[in-house]
Amino acid sequence: ADLYGASRRNSAGVEFGHAATLSALLDGLRAEDGTALAAKPIVAVAIDEAKPAPVLSPVDGRTVVGSVSFLSVEAVDAVLRAGQAAFRSWSATPAEDRARILEKMADLLEANRDRLMSLLSREAGKTLPDGLSEVREATDFCRYYAAEARRHFAEPIRMPGPTGERNELSYRGRGVFVAISPWNFPLAIFLGQVTAALAAGNTVVAKPAEQTPIIAFEAIRLLHEAGVPVAACQLATGDGRVGAALVSHPLTAGVAFTGSTETAWSINRALAAKKGPIVPLIAETGGLNAMIVDATALPEQVTDDVVASAYRSAGQRCSALRILYLQEDVADRMLEMIEGAAAELTVGDPRQPSTDLGPVIDAEAKANLDRHVAAMKKSETIRFEGRVPNAGTYVAPVIVELKDAKTLDREVFGPILHVARWKAKELDKVIEQVSATGYGLTLGIHSRIDETVEAIVEKLAVGNVYVNRNVIGAVVGTQPFGGSGLSGTGPKAGGPNYLLRFAEEQVVSVNT
Ligand code: GLU
Repeated sequence: ADLYGASRRNSAGVEFGHAATLSALLDGLRAEDGTALAAKPIVAVAIDEAKPAPVLSPVDGRTVVGSVSFLSVEAVDAVLRAGQAAFRSWSATPAEDRARILEKMADLLEANRDRLMSLLSREAGKTLPDGLSEVREATDFCRYYAAEARRHFAEPIRMPGPTGERNELSYRGRGVFVAISPWNFPLAIFLGQVTAALAAGNTVVAKPAEQTPIIAFEAIRLLHEAGVPVAACQLATGDGRVGAALVSHPLTAGVAFTGSTETAWSINRALAAKKGPIVPLIAETGGLNAMIVDATALPEQVTDDVVASAYRSAGQRCSALRILYLQEDVADRMLEMIEGAAAELTVGDPRQPSTDLGPVIDAEAKANLDRHVAAMKKSETIRFEGRVPNAGTYVAPVIVELKDAKTLDREVFGPILHVARWKAKELDKVIEQVSATGYGLTLGIHSRIDETVEAIVEKLAVGNVYVNRNVIGAVVGTQPFGGSGLSGTGPKAGGPNYLLRFAEEQVVSVNT
């Protein structure tokens, strides 16, 4: 069960994870026996050997998924210097070769799909369909960014120039990118950030969420197997202190972050306080996502889409539906149908095919959600509350009807759907309320009146708008994903502009 301990030697018999590996990396990328380290299929995991701690499964709160040692804050410098030492050769690797490595990674993910799904269930509490779509999304990121690397980075762009001059614009990596990722997509978002940074010619230090280090470890191991040089992609396990030390380090050339808006603010402050080059932050944060339903919507479709949007992944997606605005004339009928559908949901062991909602990630998340529901019970109407197993960190699907939509002023990251009613002539008021939250990640609209849809889309600055469908599961390369305002900086993950933000531009003008 101890993934680090049990596989301390890999199949080639090479040790990994020791401080010695790190110092060897710093030593001109040579291993202790003098051979070039990058040529060896080893895994560089920058860890502090002192205190391995068990990673407990949220499925029952007891089963040990593996064990993890956190990087000490003091070791952060060594990790970044190793990443910097590897930068020159990785950034000089032709885009075509980088693309091929990412495609190999996609193949490896597919070949390891069952194992990864199992790990996603055990470590992150994912149901089997959620695990499957996460492995697919991770695979899509690898293939899409490989294709994007070829498109953007293979050849310089010829710019028009005055007589005789040759002007060429090209892109290059920035240096060591720090990628800080969340536990809710511990494979797909983790790899999305890492592969984008690598594709653009950066080396990477990836800090996974402290709840999900094992799946991150597996992902890095596969990346190295696919051909990414060890020091070009390092794993730095740890909590917020490690994240803060990585961000503040002078060698950090860029930060990709997915997580809370509060953490994005603090990363932004830390970057602003640094001397030296101005470091870009690519942040994808939370949402207070609304769905606006008018009287022309199809009730069955609304029901399906609301249940999927609010409860899939136990509501632990930043895209998930948090507040449903129902036009008053149809609200009772729709609510009855939604409550009926919610009552059919099964909460339980995510490894059972019949399960719809697995656990929330940990006891702290459950306590926060339970507290929120208890507070709602005091002032609002609970329309529905499902049942949950006694053990583990399970939270029942809940429907809360709010007297005033403004009561919900922060993201509640779990299976709690809030509902508010609106009057036929007051669409503008709804739009105003949604806009006033300051968030802009996803928005659902259910209406068969084109003018209504157009008016809402035009007035709301929301990153991903979904009309007459659910609001989750953005597809790489088809629905580039990311928000505006409090929800993130852009560019959109899985979209045609994403890689460019990871790269630097250079123009060479030659007087021929
Ligand atoms: N991309 C995911 C979706 O569309 C959400 C990502 C997240 O939760 O951070 O559902």
